[in-house]
Amino acid sequence: MSDIIQLLPDHVANQIAAGEVVQRPASVVKELLENSIDAGATNIKLLLKDAGKALIQVIDNGKGMSETDARLSFERHATSKIRTAEDLFNLQTKGFRGEALASIAAIAHIELKTKLDLQELGTHIKIEGSEITLQEVVSTPTGTSLSVKNLFYNIPARRNFLKSNQVETRHIIDEFQRVALVHPTISFSLYHNDNEVYRLNASNLRQRIVAILGKKTNERLVPVNEDTDVVQLTGFVTKPEFVKKKRGEQFFFVNDRFIKNSYLNHAVNSAFEDLILPGNYPSYFLYLTVPPNTIDINIHPTKTEVKFDNEKVLYAIIRATVKHSLGQYNVSPVLDFNR
Ligand code: ADP
Ligand code: MG
Repeated sequence: MSDIIQLLPDHVANQIAAGEVVQRPASVVKELLENSIDAGATNIKLLLKDAGKALIQVIDNGKGMSETDARLSFERHATSKIRTAEDLFNLQTKGFRGEALASIAAIAHIELKTKLDLQELGTHIKIEGSEITLQEVVSTPTGTSLSVKNLFYNIPARRNFLKSNQVETRHIIDEFQRVALVHPTISFSLYHNDNEVYRLNASNLRQRIVAILGKKTNERLVPVNEDTDVVQLTGFVTKPEFVKKKRGEQFFFVNDRFIKNSYLNHAVNSAFEDLILPGNYPSYFLYLTVPPNTIDINIHPTKTEVKFDNEKVLYAIIRATVKHSLGQYNVSPVLDFNR
């Protein structure tokens, strides 16, 4: 016998997948927040201890899970969000890979409490090393509370690779802000070591931006709106006199997902080109809605890269629309740079 190939046990496969999905505490935060949104939550609370290294807990008032689903949710490729390959071309949810919880459960200790609306009692589950170590009935509000403790406890190399608490917290706040900016009608709060960091009440987009970036932002925003067959574009750019020396507050969202795209970023910057000095960058919050079958989100597990069918057309529309919006707001191209 010289057959040597074996299928890897699930917990090993999950640990390998986790390497791609979970780079740092912020990756867990993103996955859990997105699950809460997919569950229809209107109120989402994020609790952190030790920059997420000791605890990341997300509590939502979404639809919750049945006992069976609660167990299944930690299996690999277990998802309630797609059923067929065709569904991949018409995604309506943030998740679809059914990998996040299985991956996280392979590299952290998990505690889940969840209850469906019409149930009187919910389900309490603990998982260690991808195995359920406790399951009991529990009294808990409708929705889901998921705690991720001791991230990378079984992968010392990854744990040691984590950056300072300050840096890891920054990454978490970036993810939190991105999600909060896509969903202004959902209330979010964030607590770090029992201190309140954010309390964002349900509101509209302008108010959400101001709540995150500060009161001064309000007068700086220029609305952007355009509706074509290819894309619906909405959001805000900042007035040229308020550009920044460093990049940072630049956000593209496509079909309610934060994405990074240097080509489209260039489209916005180029709309400002005659209005600002080199080395300055506009802030922007731009929301693109495109037909789901004209983009591919399934390029990378973290889903921050997207392939567009018609990138060139989008570039042209974004550039023209931003230019037009700036023009409408009567921005003089001659600026007083001493302000
Ligand atoms: P995906 O989001 O890609 O489906 P996940 O591993 O993130 O995969 O989650 C697996 C499943 O667990 C989801 O499809 C969903 O049915 C369920 N689930 C996860 N989190 C929640 C939550 N907060 N509320 C309700 N259901 C959830
Ligand atoms: Mg998910």
